[in-house]
Amino acid sequence: KSFKDAGLHPVMLKNVEMSGFRTPTPIQQYCIPAIKMGHDLIAIAQTGSGKTAAYLIPILNHLMGKAKKLMAPRPSVKEFEAGIAQRARAEPLVVIVCPSRELAIQIFNEARKFCYRTMLRPCVAYGGAPVRDQFDQLQRGCDVLVATPGRLIHLMERPDVLTLRRVKYMVIDEADEMLDDDWAEDFNKILSGGEQEEGNVKYMLFSATFPTAVRKLAKTHLAETHIRVR
Ligand code: AMP
Repeated sequence: KSFKDAGLHPVMLKNVEMSGFRTPTPIQQYCIPAIKMGHDLIAIAQTGSGKTAAYLIPILNHLMGKAKKLMAPRPSVKEFEAGIAQRARAEPLVVIVCPSRELAIQIFNEARKFCYRTMLRPCVAYGGAPVRDQFDQLQRGCDVLVATPGRLIHLMERPDVLTLRRVKYMVIDEADEMLDDDWAEDFNKILSGGEQEEGNVKYMLFSATFPTAVRKLAKTHLAETHIRVR
């Protein structure tokens, strides 16, 4: 199977080609069609398997055609550069939670490549860096937020900066690296933060192992119709 057969938007296909990806990795062959069909998903995947692109490609592909309809009205980059734009709170359509700053930056960089020539704006937020700079970034428009859990919880306490009410896709990457009993409550908060009236948030859970804490989280938040990819 090739990326050409995956039924991707021409802009996405071009961005995939420009990333130098020729053929989908096995995890991508499973995840791209499953996410495209609208399933919640649990994938047992190691680093290096191409798991990041396995969720970024189908999620961003789905949103790029619909972004304008789903996004809150907001100033353009040009208006910000001209200094005439008001700050607006971030209302991301995608939230990706991962355990470390390094991984967050890596995912953000991959998201940037796939968002190229689309309206979607990626942002990254992690602990140990000034929160003010991240407020500033977020308030310039954020459709895809990559964040570490502690900083995300912190940002969620500022409804003037961030709201998760528009979220369509919630991804927990390297779940087993973050989840233990100490974190369970925070994760329930994060995952419910995305829940809207229609309850149509899609959940994706990626993990190298499948311990009890990850099972529990999946059972609480993922739809019955989820697909398990190993
Ligand atoms: P990940 O497992 O997501 O950390 O990805 C590992 C590395 O493989 C990253 O540098 C990706 O950019 C790269 N990669 C992911 N998918 C593909 C692909 N289909 N072809 C070539 N490289 C890929």
